[in-house]
Amino acid sequence: MVSEWQQGRAPDSAGLTEWTQGRAPSFAGAAFRGVGSVPAQPGTRPCVHSLNARHNVGVTTLELERLAEGLGIDVVGAAPAEPYDETERHIRERREQGLFADMRFTMARPEVSCHPETLLPGVRTVISAALCYYADEPERGPGEGRLPRYTWFHAYAELREKLDALGRALGGEYRVLVDENDHVDREAAARSGVGFYGKNTMLITQRHGSWVVLGTLVTEAEIEATPRLPLDCGSCTLCIEACPTGALDEPGTLDSTRCLSYWSQAPGAIPEEYRAELGAQVYGCDICQDVCPWNRGVEKRRAGERPPEGAEPHVSLVEWLELSDDELRTRYERLYFPRKDPRYLRRNALVALGNSADPELRSAAEPYASGDDPLLREHAEWSLARLDEVKG
Ligand code: SF4
Ligand code: SF4
Repeated sequence: MVSEWQQGRAPDSAGLTEWTQGRAPSFAGAAFRGVGSVPAQPGTRPCVHSLNARHNVGVTTLELERLAEGLGIDVVGAAPAEPYDETERHIRERREQGLFADMRFTMARPEVSCHPETLLPGVRTVISAALCYYADEPERGPGEGRLPRYTWFHAYAELREKLDALGRALGGEYRVLVDENDHVDREAAARSGVGFYGKNTMLITQRHGSWVVLGTLVTEAEIEATPRLPLDCGSCTLCIEACPTGALDEPGTLDSTRCLSYWSQAPGAIPEEYRAELGAQVYGCDICQDVCPWNRGVEKRRAGERPPEGAEPHVSLVEWLELSDDELRTRYERLYFPRKDPRYLRRNALVALGNSADPELRSAAEPYASGDDPLLREHAEWSLARLDEVKG
């Protein structure tokens, strides 16, 4: 039987909830699930295939969609460049409640990130775009840790290039914002009908679920606005039930202080009560997306599809513990970790090693248990004790 999910409909959409009424429940998730920031890319380069000549007379939705499709962008939408007042208020409220822990990202400066009208002189339109990164996961080998899907390859870099090409094609002044702190990409995506807010705080697209990276193009070109999606989570609560740490107990609001993804990217020690829950995960957490029914469609369509060449779903824990600082930094340039300090990756590897139940990995943790770094020493001690516990 083909479920209503597979048909791209919400299971219970009688009555629009706050998700589709423009209220932004929380923005914490995507920000810290995102990878490191990159500089903005203002641009005005000409392009032979551009709509330059008519950028100031308006571009229709159909024209925008055709351009985006030609560039390999999976979902696109447009909205007028107006302040995200409700979102700004929400971020401030959530921050006052301490739900963002010490997260930075778009939460740090809502006076900037919620004001697309200030991102470019003469800006008229905010274009939101989504690129699907879903691929089947190969089997994980012994001694390997797992990365979250969005980091398997540099999907953000691909989207950035595509948006730059779109900006050139539309003509005029534009600025590309991908994985940046200066803009709340999810709000632009919700406003322009690219997706809707899920109770797991992710932006969910109709066809590709939440397995997408989002990016934004602000431009002086005038583009027909696309309507919001009339969809929501309905009565589903799967992600709330699946979250191992209760971080989604208030639907649509992420309590960062209880989120595994947050702790894997935060400075300092990972709280002990969350270490076992991380399992083999060396970074991030996909659980609340893995269970989401909106993701079943793309998963079926891409079943058997291997990750792109060079993608890295799994990593060697021993390598993470033995590579030099420079090697780790260079190889994982696509990941965010505090101050680009590789000891935070090693800290995570030590936790995954402890959870591996593989005594052969012991020797990779032992030097850290007698090392000079108090953070890594404590995590290595925990790791070795957990190996003993699982064995015993
Ligand atoms: Fe965070 Fe994982 Fe819970 Fe999602 S399932 S809220 S990523 S801990
Ligand atoms: Fe919404 Fe969560 Fe259910 Fe997905 S799993 S439909 S985000 S409630």
